[in-house]
Amino acid sequence: MAECIFCAIIAGSIPSDKVVETENLIVIKDISPKASIHYLIIPKKHIADMQSLGSDDAQLAGDMMLMATRLSQDLSDPRAFRIIVNNGAAAGQCVFHLHMHFLAGKKMPGF
Ligand code: 5GP
Ligand code: ZN
Repeated sequence: MAECIFCAIIAGSIPSDKVVETENLIVIKDISPKASIHYLIIPKKHIADMQSLGSDDAQLAGDMMLMATRLSQDLSDPRAFRIIVNNGAAAGQCVFHLHMHFLAGKKMPGF
């Protein structure tokens, strides 16, 4: 999608620090990390937000969850990570291409 920063990263026209790439996902390091490990799990398909997921995206949504588990296997404590999806501007979403934040590497307070 034109004007979408994550689509440009997926297309390779904007550089990124890539962690993993699969057929339908890309994982990159967040440019402004909020923890010592802060990755973004991004579907290659442009989907603006959670509401824009359709029933035909069920596999993709599941793959995003399973990617978090896969990434956790490289942590010193594979059980210690946090997943965040900011959905909508009022909830802090800045990039309107669906993504999950994967945070780890420091003790995080509970909500
Ligand atoms: P949101 O606030 O939409 O949930 O998260 C967007 C995230 O994308 C932010 O944490 C921000 O630091 C990150 N981000 C924005 N632009 C870029 C970029 O060009 N490259 C990378 N790697 N991350 C970006
Ligand atoms: Zn996009």
